Amino acid sequence: MKALRLIAHGAPGELRHEEVPTPEPGPGDALVRVRACGLNRLDLWVEEKGLPIPILLPRIQGCETAGEIAALGPEVTGWSPGDRVCISSNLACGGCEACRAGEESMCSRNRIFGVETDGGFAEYACLPARHLVPLPRELGFEAAAGLSLAASTAMHMLTDRTRVRAGDWVLVIAGASGVGSAAIQIARQLGARVLATGSSEAKRSLALALGAEAALDPADPSWPGEVRRLTGKRGVDIVVEHVGGPLLAQAFDCLARGGSIVTCGATAGREISLNLWPLFVKQQRLIGSYGRNRRDLVETLRWAAEGRLRPVVDKVFPLSDGVAAFKALRQREVLGKVVLCP
Ligand SMILES: [Zn+2]
Repeated sequence: MKALRLIAHGAPGELRHEEVPTPEPGPGDALVRVRACGLNRLDLWVEEKGLPIPILLPRIQGCETAGEIAALGPEVTGWSPGDRVCISSNLACGGCEACRAGEESMCSRNRIFGVETDGGFAEYACLPARHLVPLPRELGFEAAAGLSLAASTAMHMLTDRTRVRAGDWVLVIAGASGVGSAAIQIARQLGARVLATGSSEAKRSLALALGAEAALDPADPSWPGEVRRLTGKRGVDIVVEHVGGPLLAQAFDCLARGGSIVTCGATAGREISLNLWPLFVKQQRLIGSYGRNRRDLVETLRWAAEGRLRPVVDKVFPLSDGVAAFKALRQREVLGKVVLCP
């Protein structure tokens, strides 16, 4: 099969579109014919060796995968060749206390598909069939590949780690990103009033089109004050954050008493200084969110099939142009998602 493999780390790293052996499904495994696979910030971290976990090279990356079952190994029940599927990219162990409780995102033996195993930037991907989720027929492969990781991450943040209530104010940092574009829509569906940030005019326009009432430029140092003004000085109830660094400190300046910041990433820096005085006086929360539970992905696909959540796919590249896709994401030229199709 053809696959896009990371041969050497770097920014850019060395990626090769080349012929590799097609994997054979073992007991419990499914071989998925990949139709589309989304590109994520996570893929750039792998490329750059920016994750605190060892990555064996060469590696086929690609976490956000949709396709059809091509073949099944022995001992697989409930699936048939030809079934349309999405892959849940956190490969939880399935046996621990967290997994048995349906909290796969808490599994300490979690491995990330396409990071710690070979992933979806290939014609075929092989993995345990229990990580497959049915793809509703209303959803195309490219749409699913533009939703299954980023939007389910936002679903986990807004319906599990925090719970948006009707009438809440929600601030979405980087509202034109994969997570951000989904978070705006999910918060609106749950009855929240939404504000967003965006680092360019095009990104702010997209955030507004998705349902934000105002979109602010984080390069303008007065932007947290603008959030307070827009919310009648009270601040927002929830901040959806995945940038980190100095921006996370600014997010606290936007937060209401009793409010929560929920974070799933730290693109701009993993270490911050935090003034604890306002945190406890205002009874605020800083909440970590990691990946998703299976039910978050199922809900995400159901919402999308019902038209309540639309994927924002900016660019679709053939797998053979994978290098150009990585470059577009690295240069932050992307509005929503980049998808690769073998
Ligand atoms: Zn587990």
